[in-house]
Amino acid sequence: MLPQHDRRNSREVFIGNVPMGGNNPVRLQTMTKTDTRDVQATLKQCRQALDAGADYIRISVPDVASVKAFEKIKNKLAGDGYRSPLIADIHYRHDLAIMMAGIADKLRINPANFGWPPESKKKQAKKSGKSEIPPGLLAETLAPLAEACKKHGTAIRLGGNAGSVEHTNTLTKTRSAEFLVNQAVKYLDILEELGFYDLVVSLKNSNPAETTEATRLMHQRMQQTGQHYPLHIGVTESGLGVSGRVSSALGIIPLLREGIADTIRVSLTEEPEKEIHFAQKLLDVCRQNGDNVFEATCRDNMLYIISRTSDPDTLIAEAVQGFLTLPERNAIQHITIEAPGMANQQVVKETAAQIMQQADIKEVGTRFISCPACARTSTDMEKLCRLFRKELADYPGIHIAIMGCMVNGPGEMAGADYGVIATSNDKVNVYAEGVCIKRNICGKEAISLIREILIEDDSGR
Ligand code: SF4
Repeated sequence: MLPQHDRRNSREVFIGNVPMGGNNPVRLQTMTKTDTRDVQATLKQCRQALDAGADYIRISVPDVASVKAFEKIKNKLAGDGYRSPLIADIHYRHDLAIMMAGIADKLRINPANFGWPPESKKKQAKKSGKSEIPPGLLAETLAPLAEACKKHGTAIRLGGNAGSVEHTNTLTKTRSAEFLVNQAVKYLDILEELGFYDLVVSLKNSNPAETTEATRLMHQRMQQTGQHYPLHIGVTESGLGVSGRVSSALGIIPLLREGIADTIRVSLTEEPEKEIHFAQKLLDVCRQNGDNVFEATCRDNMLYIISRTSDPDTLIAEAVQGFLTLPERNAIQHITIEAPGMANQQVVKETAAQIMQQADIKEVGTRFISCPACARTSTDMEKLCRLFRKELADYPGIHIAIMGCMVNGPGEMAGADYGVIATSNDKVNVYAEGVCIKRNICGKEAISLIREILIEDDSGR
């Protein structure tokens, strides 16, 4: 763990039997990517992530069948000796949240889609033409949940994402750090008024710099208001491979170094245990022990990093850490990394290039973001994303977002030039600048369509 004097003094919140915040170590967490109703598949991912060192596992609960499956998974894990807390991820459904309050150790709700009251009142509220929920109505809506969570000792994370804020029209939403902070504070205030304090807060963005900005602002605000709730840190939809890891590292390492992270989640479109492995490496480089043995020097705006690791995740964490220690990093023109022990030298090259791109210094290729996948998609997101990355890699300045479902997809991809949302049966909808241009086509057709538009745009310039 990071030395205590370097950590913010947050409130200790019990998540089942594993407390977070206070004097506790920075906790590592991940989320399953299976259909929760598939108990065996979800159990397998839970066990693998727990064996890799996860402190908490989050599981999405989109329907009543998933509530039942969650309970079975919890009991089976306990039967096998795994007592780690399980977190339920809930969108929109108040009824499911109340049910899960008695089963899960923590609920993650998104203020953007949870604050709206159940259907009939929601219609009344919308009729009034307001896109923000009036605080009185919000308190009324949250009261039963706060009561249920209090009764069962269940914590709540207010998990805000820049891509989904409390507005009815996601395409005209405000994404600023300040907006996200204000939204979170509004919910904190109401839950406190309801006598509920077992809270954790996160403000995520797919852009690492904007993630750190929003989290720092939240930290400052909580310092002023005395609301010292634990902070959950992570860059959302960072994608996969080297670029996903670099993006996560750029967003998480600064906050770990500033001591304002109480728990971290690396969000990758890969298996949960891989998220945990990389999260552990981020912690290792921040506490400067483990096997990190790198040197970083800077001359004439050139950064040279020498690493002796043979582990790709360690290399990426070290390289980002080396970059972040530079006071004038935005003036860097080139990064050279030497890692003679690395079997895959492509990772070494890509790490240098991705740091330049993800830190907004130089565009080196298409920027991809993708959701980490959860129970709400039936598509193999990793396979789909790898296909897009292979076929559409060379369009510097172009942003492509690949999302697993319609629940969060449209909002989360709103800043991208092209968006792809998995529908059912391995089909996708394709969006250009937020407008749907083709529905239910296969991945390869979507790639051809986007490529044609890119070529047309290029020749029209
Ligand atoms: S976009 Fe949908 S499938 Fe992807 S992580 Fe978010 S809720 Fe899950």
